[in-house]
Amino acid sequence: MNKLDAQRQKEIQQAEELLFAGPQALGFAKGLFHGHFVADWVMPYPRIPAVQQTELDKSLAELRQFLDEDLDPAEIDRQADIPRKVIDGLGRVGVLGATALVEYGGRGFTQMANCKLLEEIGRRCASTSVFVNAHHSIGIRALLLFGTHEQKQKWLPKLVTGEELGAFALTEQEAGSDAANVQMQARPTDDGAHFILNGEKRYITNAAIAHVLTVMARTPIPGSDKTAITAFLVTPDMPGFTMLDARMPKMGIRGTATGRFALRDVKVPRENILGPPGKGLKVALTVLDFGRTTFGACCTGAAKTCLRLALEHANRRKQFNKTLGEFDLVKKKIARMAADAYAMEAMTTITASLIDRGLEDYMIETAMLKVFTTERLWECINEAFQIYGGSAYFVDLPLERMLRDARINQIGEGSNEVLTSFIALVGMRGPGMEFKEIYDTMLKPTRAGIGRAWNAGMHRLGATVRVPDIPVRSTELRSFANQLGRLIWRFNFAVNRALITYREPILDMQLVQERIAGAAMDLFASTCVLSRQDAEIQLARRNGDSAPPDHSAADLFLRQSFRRIRRFLGGLTDNDDKSLLAAANAVLGKPRS
Ligand SMILES: Cc1cc2nc3c(=O)[nH]c(=O)nc-3n(C[C@H](O)[C@H](O)[C@H](O)COP(=O)(O)OP(=O)(O)OC[C@H]3O[C@@H](n4cnc5c(N)ncnc54)[C@H](O)[C@@H]3O)c2cc1C
Repeated sequence: MNKLDAQRQKEIQQAEELLFAGPQALGFAKGLFHGHFVADWVMPYPRIPAVQQTELDKSLAELRQFLDEDLDPAEIDRQADIPRKVIDGLGRVGVLGATALVEYGGRGFTQMANCKLLEEIGRRCASTSVFVNAHHSIGIRALLLFGTHEQKQKWLPKLVTGEELGAFALTEQEAGSDAANVQMQARPTDDGAHFILNGEKRYITNAAIAHVLTVMARTPIPGSDKTAITAFLVTPDMPGFTMLDARMPKMGIRGTATGRFALRDVKVPRENILGPPGKGLKVALTVLDFGRTTFGACCTGAAKTCLRLALEHANRRKQFNKTLGEFDLVKKKIARMAADAYAMEAMTTITASLIDRGLEDYMIETAMLKVFTTERLWECINEAFQIYGGSAYFVDLPLERMLRDARINQIGEGSNEVLTSFIALVGMRGPGMEFKEIYDTMLKPTRAGIGRAWNAGMHRLGATVRVPDIPVRSTELRSFANQLGRLIWRFNFAVNRALITYREPILDMQLVQERIAGAAMDLFASTCVLSRQDAEIQLARRNGDSAPPDHSAADLFLRQSFRRIRRFLGGLTDNDDKSLLAAANAVLGKPRS
């Protein structure tokens, strides 16, 4: 086995261990790849239970008042610091422990409710929303999800109020996108009561202001010479904890303290391990699922701000004796922003509800949400920027700050390229295994194999002959629903064809993966939009409203999303991939493939 094959085997083994631990309910995204529309996860559009909604409304009102009075995003950016009084205020209104159980001092909110809080912060200040995410969405998440009752009792009460702060430390020099390549070592002491940690972490939000850090390090696997990642709670007062760079100066989200630190023979008690020893990568990826969900909420908030700013300017500024909003090329930008903001909110709400409703595996959906919302926000800011013309370029308006702040979104918590590939590969795994079953049996028929291959074949065939039904309740949405059903059928057909055509090499064909992931993302986004529209029409009907809600932006989203899906699928057979790869290889100095 050559080095590359050995590396691939290692990656597959890690992915298997991480993602496919046992039988699970079919999620929405995985269903799409099988040609199914698993309606139960997405329809009807989820609602926050009435009791919690009242509490959430109160919290939102408190939060808005606090942010209006005490948050100055421009000053935070200028000073490259979030003042302590802002952190205290966020703690006071409950944002820093929103999803922690009440028994540990939290608010006990669902992810859906939490996302509403984050959207509100994301509307105003990306530094503050990233700070809250680093503390609550990921910093203390492993403790919330995997901590024992004793660990939670010990650590959480001060963390949920903001008296103490949390951070999540995964990234290292050699472990960026390749998160599994953590090098920090954790060696058990002879008596097994402690672990000695050595190594460095970089790019860690809140590192220098955190009182408790969730740190990923490699521990030996007992009885073997291998190691696996384990999650530890580390505090900066432990001897050997060395801050190398407390605030790395940076382009955007300047209010956040992004740091680099070393652990030099830091002695950490065994009881500080979070989750099962050796399962730290699973812990980390689960934590990041939550981070990606609130990412979606923050991007939604920022996109709504872009739309508001664009509308204000387009209605006010006159050129050629017309307001800018009278020009079709400006209208085009504004319509797209409104459509995207509607979709981003719908997708965030449905993804958060998957977590709340206990779907076990929502990794594809959170990855889709992260990629989709961060890309759409980047476009929204760019469009709003263009509408403002030269004035956007100056620091007295928020758009230049928003542009700088938003750039990290496509990189952090899994770069969009890595997640795009992940969406396609994890999604295709199910149908891919069924084809493998059929193929292996054709090569080497056995009685058991034929039975399994028959089942797999029938499953595949079932998906290729049936156009899934999209159960909308509003007749005015039926045409969109039918189009979506047909596109899911076409998507399944395209996935099958790609798997049959390329077989195992598809694992490395990122240009194919990008189109499959892109189509899947738009199918998910369209579903969320349709589900939300359906719920809003039904509500208007129940309330006896004389006119249906104005859904022109949502309708536009669906039309454009369907068009993109058709383009992605068309690109699978009509593309310039060979030429593109040849050009890249030529300039990279790589051999021709
Ligand atoms: C401001 C800031 C805050 C951060 N906060 C935290 C934090 O709190 N905790 C934490 O643990 N980490 C944090 N990070 C780290 C962040 O998650 C990483 O930067 C990110 O995972 C990417 O790793 P990298 O920067 O090493 O880029 P690399 O891994 O070097 O990747 C660079 C680029 O290469 C491309 N690429 C890489 N791999 C592939 C692939 N397989 N296929 C196609 N393209 C690929 C992508 O375009 C990617 O953007 C933060 C980073 C920043 C900048």
